Order: sequence, then structure tokens, then C-alpha cells
Amino acid sequence: MKIGFVGLGNMGGPMAANLVKAGHEVQGYDPVAPCPEGVTQAASAAGAAMRAEVVITMLPNGAILRSVADEIIPAMAAGAVLCDCSTVDVASARAVAEQAREAGLGALDAPVSGGVGGASAGTLTFMVGGSDASFASVRPLFEVMGQKAVHCGTPGAGQAAKICNNMILGATMAVTCEAFALADKLGLDRARMFDVVSTSSGHSWSMNAYCPAPGVGPQSPADNDYKPGFAAELMLKDLRLSQQAAEAVDADTPMGARAMALYEAFVEQEDGRGRDFSALLPRFAARGRGPTG
Ligand code: NAD
Repeated sequence: MKIGFVGLGNMGGPMAANLVKAGHEVQGYDPVAPCPEGVTQAASAAGAAMRAEVVITMLPNGAILRSVADEIIPAMAAGAVLCDCSTVDVASARAVAEQAREAGLGALDAPVSGGVGGASAGTLTFMVGGSDASFASVRPLFEVMGQKAVHCGTPGAGQAAKICNNMILGATMAVTCEAFALADKLGLDRARMFDVVSTSSGHSWSMNAYCPAPGVGPQSPADNDYKPGFAAELMLKDLRLSQQAAEAVDADTPMGARAMALYEAFVEQEDGRGRDFSALLPRFAARGRGPTG
């Protein structure tokens, strides 16, 4: 397939490289990041998009996606599909899909989970919103870049799935970390706590697969001085998107709001920026209850 790829950063670079390895013809554009080997450098985003059957974008946020969409949609060939894999707000995903539809193009929002490791290994999970026809035409590319693609529904449904998942993850990691810090103060050994909880009703991915306590459970960023992994500021971004979406549709999300406030303080006022999101455990362990509890 002829593919345009716009945004070749930490995620987009290895995703584009995997498409080349699978035999696809990829024209790439990024104002900063270099093109991976085998990707032909275009002079602009529009240049990467023209003549492509599918244009993939992997960009930092919704505002940048909207400005890139303004540039590439008029350049795209009739019937081509714009597939945005960035994590952005639901409103931007829907606006860009509508703009593409009006221009006679297909559109998908297809955010990913799996991080930089998954992007390099080609094992991402795609959560996809858009029409059946667009999903069917991009599916072979999802199979190259990932291990699973779930068609979640109409435009915006992929972003909705992503932020709901990550809201659960943020709140679950926060309570797992505070439970370990409480266990410390109660004199309960962390390894014993893991043994019990990982096989009891308090278990979760945060506890069982990504245990925030160093030396306990499987290998995780906690065993590597909390180097990410999944950085706290990326979790904060996703929690903010979840609360923005919740406000827009009047959904009551008190646990998500609390998790967002915690990660906001951790990233912006404490030493959380650049640390893994599980580094809330040493934060809780070093504190008392404080005035707000
Ligand atoms: P990144 O900052 O490494 O890459 C984004 C790239 O977009 C940069 O190289 C930047 O130069 C480029 N860019 C900015 N403006 C542009 C423009 N106008 N035209 C073309 N390119 C432009 O970020 P990343 O880690 O690759 O993340 C990309 C997206 O994937 C984000 O939305 C992020 O939330 C999401 N995501 C990241 C991870 C992760 O672990 N890094 C995991 C899941 C989802």
C-alpha cells in the first residue's frame, strides 16, 4: 500500500519502520524527528499525504491534529483514509472525521495502547472509531503495527475507549500505590501483600503485571528506579482528556477527577515529571496523611 505518515516521534517512527519492513511504500513527514530507514522524506505533511491510500498521523494533541488535518485533507486522493493514531480529545477526533467525510475521504480514530515498546515490536492494541469500510481498508496495517485492533464504533469511539481504559488504569495504580504505603505503616511486608492481593479480589493489571513495589512481583519500572515505562506526564495527559470528555457529556467521574488531581500535583509540583506513573508509591510512602487526607 502507499502510505503517508505524519509525526515520526517516539511512537510514529517505529510504527512507520514496521510498515516499511512489511513491504509498504511509506512517505513520511515530521518537522523535527528524522525519517526511519526506508521511509521516504516528504517536504511537508501535504507532500506525504498526496497519492497515499492511507495517511496515518501520530501527533502530540488535538490542536496539532486539527492543524495538520487542515493541511493534508485537501491534498489527499479521493477515497483515501485518514487514520489518526494519536491520543486526542474526543471532540477533535470527531471534528477531523467530519472534515474528512465532507472531503470524500474515509476517517478513523485509532489510538493505541502498548507504548514505545509495543510500537517497536509491532504489538500495539488499536481502539478504532469510524466506518466499517474504513476499518476494513486499514486493518492490514493494524495487523502489521499491532497484535489487536478492536472496532469500537462510530467516530470518536476509539478515543472514548482509550480514555476510559486509562482513567481506570490511573485510578487503579493510585490506589494500589497508596495501599502499599498503608501496608508499610501497618507493618505488613510488601511481598506478603503482593501474594495476597494478586490472587484476591483486589488484583488488577497495576498489581499483577506492573507491580509498583520494587523487588516484588514481576519485573516492572519500579525495579529500574521508576524510569518509564509509561511516564507520569503521559498518564496526566490521558486523565485530563478523560475529565474534559466527562465535563462535555455531564458524566460524574469522581475517582478519575481525584486521580487527575494526584497526577497533576505529582507532575507539576513534585518530582514526578519524567518518572514512571507507578512512582506514586515512593511519593505516598514518604508522606503522612496531610491536611486534606
Ligand atoms: P512524540 O512527541 O515523540 O512524537 C510526536 C511527533 O509529532 C514529534 O516528532 C513532533 O515533531 C511531531 N509533530 C509535531 N507537530 C507536527 C506537525 N505539525 N506536523 C508533523 N509532525 C508534527 O510523542 P509520542 O510519544 O510519539 O506520542 C504520539 C502520540 O501517541 C501522542 O498523542 C501520545 O499521547 C500517544 N501515545 C503515546 C504513548 C507513549 O508511550 N509514548 C503511548 C500511547 C499513546
